[in-house]
Amino acid sequence: MLLLGVGAGQSLPPPRIGDQPGFTRVVLDLPKDTPYTLEPLGAALRVTFPGQTVTPGIHFVSQPELAGYVLEQHEDKAVLILFTPQGVTPRSGYKTMTLAALEGDGQRLVIDLSGAFVETGPLPLPPGFRFVKANGRRFSVVVDAGHGGPDPGAMGPVAEKWVNLEVALRVRRWLQEAGVEVTLTREGDAAFSPDKRTDLTQRVALAQSKHLFVSIHANATVPVQADGWCGLEVYYFGPPARPFFPPPAPLTPTLPVALAPSPLDILSTVTQPGALDPGAEPDPKDINPIPPQSLPTPTPQMNSARRMELSRTLATRVLSYMLGATAAVNRGVRSSDFFVIRYTSVPAILVEMGYLSHPIEGQNLREANYLDRISYGIARGVLEYLENDHPAE
Ligand SMILES: [Zn+2]
Repeated sequence: MLLLGVGAGQSLPPPRIGDQPGFTRVVLDLPKDTPYTLEPLGAALRVTFPGQTVTPGIHFVSQPELAGYVLEQHEDKAVLILFTPQGVTPRSGYKTMTLAALEGDGQRLVIDLSGAFVETGPLPLPPGFRFVKANGRRFSVVVDAGHGGPDPGAMGPVAEKWVNLEVALRVRRWLQEAGVEVTLTREGDAAFSPDKRTDLTQRVALAQSKHLFVSIHANATVPVQADGWCGLEVYYFGPPARPFFPPPAPLTPTLPVALAPSPLDILSTVTQPGALDPGAEPDPKDINPIPPQSLPTPTPQMNSARRMELSRTLATRVLSYMLGATAAVNRGVRSSDFFVIRYTSVPAILVEMGYLSHPIEGQNLREANYLDRISYGIARGVLEYLENDHPAE
């Protein structure tokens, strides 16, 4: 038949899907030198094969990284749409490679999907931060490296207390370079007391008369969820509320960056709310059941509603800049009642830098470049808050 030229008329086989620790692998068996294009669309990755044919259909996969896929036949091309609950952007969410076919002279297009595929290269050095609107004000902040000493925090390929300290030290450096006075709750593997309540009370007490308090943590979840949960969360103290998902902030204000909408923003309109995070339960290790006795008396200058509002603003700034610096999954700004953000007298947030329990994100959190990016995002968010949002005394 005339239409059946070489390589034409032969439908592409359906993709092969493999579940790997922390990612999903999609393999397409293609004729040699088959051209294709990839378009990351947030909640989906579109793969187009000009001149090819496929058998149209909808397929459910139900992996954390791949909900399912659709094959479409267009007049002059075949299209594969992969639905990616963790999101894909030009900077994150997928990796591809082409390999020779195992048999014959064809090729394999391999697409690996994971929200933990993020930017782990060296941080491009942004210009130094300068206070403009807050001219003349001297700010002082507390940076709390969570856990320490007898309390390792969450466990993964590395102990949480180590990651927290690495980042706290980096955040201090960035803030000091911008002229902010920084008090760390610890500078080594230590705690104020082996007694958790005494330790946390001492940390909170350091915030007296400072401008704000940032507590730095990394998360972990139960083994059954460990393969799928990854990304960044920032908490403020407040009544239970649905998380919200600020867009990533560009790293430099002078170089506008085209901002893709957050994948979760898109998802929240097309799937069940919070599909990625059905429990939204904070790490139990980070919840301190200690009652508030023997705590320092809160300073009277800021009422709790005002403090909550400012803490929420600070959380939003910090998460935006962390997302901008890392391209990590956006798990949102959330409210909670963690001890250290509840009993501080100043605006306070608790940052969760990712999941040590995730096979890939846990490894990311060991990498110096990635910790630089996380740290820069936190520091930059704090500086933007101080510059734009913190009330005049
Ligand atoms: Zn922690």
